[in-house]
Amino acid sequence: MSDKFCARCGKSLTEGSLNYMVHIQILSDFDGVLPYTEDDLSEEIQAVLKNVDTMDAQELEDDVYQEISFVLCEKCKKIFARDPFSSDKVVFPYNKKLENLIH
Ligand SMILES: [Zn+2]
Repeated sequence: MSDKFCARCGKSLTEGSLNYMVHIQILSDFDGVLPYTEDDLSEEIQAVLKNVDTMDAQELEDDVYQEISFVLCEKCKKIFARDPFSSDKVVFPYNKKLENLIH
């Protein structure tokens, strides 16, 4: 008996069955703009450094870079590839359309 399951529907994925590995990389993006004036930048840096001391190392790493992997069955792969954000169930703010969110 296989111990692989579809991450979306929970279906058992038997040996030899068609299944798909989804690997997602989430990277922090920086547009080069710091939303601080020079005067309060020093205070902000001090606040960040103070928080770094109390934050979990994994949490800090996840804020910058994160990888997520899961397996989908054939049916769920088609659904995920067609609509990865399940936009039929999610209401995007400001009525943004999915096409505007994907680069
Ligand atoms: Zn599935």
